[in-house]
Amino acid sequence: MQTKFILDERDMPSRWYNILADLPSPMPPYLHPKTGKEIVPADLAAIFPQELIRQEVSAKRFIDIPEEVASILRLWRPSPLYRARRLEEHLKTPARIYYKYEGVSPAGSHKPNTAVPQAYYNMQEGIERLATETGAGQWGSSLAFATSLFGMDCTVYMVRASYQQKPYRKMMMQTWGAECLPSPTDRTEAGRMVLARDPDTSGSLGIAISEAVEDAATHDNTNYALGSVLNHVCLHQTIVGQEAQAQLAMDDAAADVIIGCVGGGSNFAGFSFPFIRDKMAGKTPDLDVIAVEPSACPTLTRGLYAYDYGDVAGLTPLMKMYTLGHDFVPPAIHAGGLRYHGDSPIVSRLHADGLIRATAYHQNEVFAAAVTFARTEGIIVAPEAAHAVKAAIDCALECRTTGEAKTIVFNNSGHGHFDLSSYEAYFAGSLADYEYPVDLVRESLGHLPVTG
Ligand SMILES: *Cc1c(COP(=O)(O)O)cnc(C)c1O
Repeated sequence: MQTKFILDERDMPSRWYNILADLPSPMPPYLHPKTGKEIVPADLAAIFPQELIRQEVSAKRFIDIPEEVASILRLWRPSPLYRARRLEEHLKTPARIYYKYEGVSPAGSHKPNTAVPQAYYNMQEGIERLATETGAGQWGSSLAFATSLFGMDCTVYMVRASYQQKPYRKMMMQTWGAECLPSPTDRTEAGRMVLARDPDTSGSLGIAISEAVEDAATHDNTNYALGSVLNHVCLHQTIVGQEAQAQLAMDDAAADVIIGCVGGGSNFAGFSFPFIRDKMAGKTPDLDVIAVEPSACPTLTRGLYAYDYGDVAGLTPLMKMYTLGHDFVPPAIHAGGLRYHGDSPIVSRLHADGLIRATAYHQNEVFAAAVTFARTEGIIVAPEAAHAVKAAIDCALECRTTGEAKTIVFNNSGHGHFDLSSYEAYFAGSLADYEYPVDLVRESLGHLPVTG
């Protein structure tokens, strides 16, 4: 009986799958943050390269992966798919559990899958430096890795809570040659504004995005790179789901349940979209696709589907998405990569259309699942990925009750080797389970921009 399913390098997908070509209804357009009018490509040209702007709105079903990008992805791709037999036995479930493992990349998560093409397209268009934000440090380290391969500079605004909790990620960025700053900083207008209001703020992805966008918009040689949320980021991640489909076929398996954790939505998107394509085409009408988020930042499960800014300062285009309000600052939970007020507009649309469903967990139950996983499968997962582990375990336990032998497949988006302080806090019993901050969210949702 086989444990891991490995594709040959030659079988790495040669194109990305663009779900925009197959959505049942058109996406609501991005709106200009100042005028409220539909965005035109020129509006984005100050901070993004042309090719990524094209991909953002492309209607082509498949987009070729440039060979320069593919040759770098092959450093760790195709990534393995595992059958989690020991976890199945431990849970005494009739379900079959598989997981795709993205922790094998140099930065330890799925994020280099998009960092590499983003750096490449910027380099091709003459950009010398990328500015970005990072939550847990996964994205900053991924972009630092990618820019280093193309000889570019990189400035990373890192959410202060994570900068303090996770110093090793900062050192990785430095090793790859990037500059890493705790956000909010006093380098940008956006950062100074937040510091004036709340000098002890733990920071948030929304604030850090404002800083990076401002940096890019005010420097000619500099563009901005986003690690999640946007359509082109979800596009680049679809290499994951395409590989997983081929690997499941190696075991004659067909997924009944697809699970991924959701921060901005990119690993969930990249993993699930190729499967959702089959569901929309009527091939797998009963496929259950589950997005998992933290109870402390329950965007899909408790947010509003409305136009909102992607950042705190209101510099980004307005996107229609599930949101808790752009100035909502989530509690400082340890899954830093899931602390985002909004979500990918495509993932949001799929949720609004009922093609996927969402569920939320508290961090103590999530860490308990991660420990079970480490003690059965061996891998110590990132706190973000642990949300997917928890949902997969719950689903398998449900199968034990009903006797159903479902095939559950989840995306293990990264390892937790630089998140061990979070595990330490869990073992010490000092992790707080934040209740959904109803009042804060209500206040923040009161500040949604008015459109149309
Ligand atoms: C950043 C991150 C996430 C969350 O980001 P998405 O864009 O929602 O995928 C999840 N898992 C890991 C390991 C991460 O680093």
